[in-house]
Amino acid sequence: MGFERFGSKSFTSQAKVAEFVDYLDKGELAYTKCRTCSQAYFPPRADCANCLGNDMEWIAFEGNGKIATFTHTMYAPTGFEAEAPYTIVVAEFGGLKVLGRMNKSVPVDSLSVGMPVKVEIVKLPDGQVTYEFLPA
Ligand SMILES: [Zn+2]
Repeated sequence: MGFERFGSKSFTSQAKVAEFVDYLDKGELAYTKCRTCSQAYFPPRADCANCLGNDMEWIAFEGNGKIATFTHTMYAPTGFEAEAPYTIVVAEFGGLKVLGRMNKSVPVDSLSVGMPVKVEIVKLPDGQVTYEFLPA
């Protein structure tokens, strides 16, 4: 419960990682880390694929990431048509890759691989909450 508030359009109301939305509400982007084997996950997971345990802790990302790759989307999938065009970025934060959108005010031709980025939490007018990247 509560996961339906994630993103501009959510297709899932329940998730074992719904606490993710609570962190966004607090202004933080969080991942999970297994207390047994230290494997970290983003998107966050409630169960560890490495050791099959489920003793996970939530940790908020800190500091800047770096762009690993990005693409500019001119045609969006069903449900997101009104949001195109937008730029999708994969940014590395430590050893974790985080997929998200770049803030629309940032021109795609200003981006480059290796460029530092920071996370911004976005509260949408309809009560949804998500995150996006900004140049750091
Ligand atoms: Zn584990």
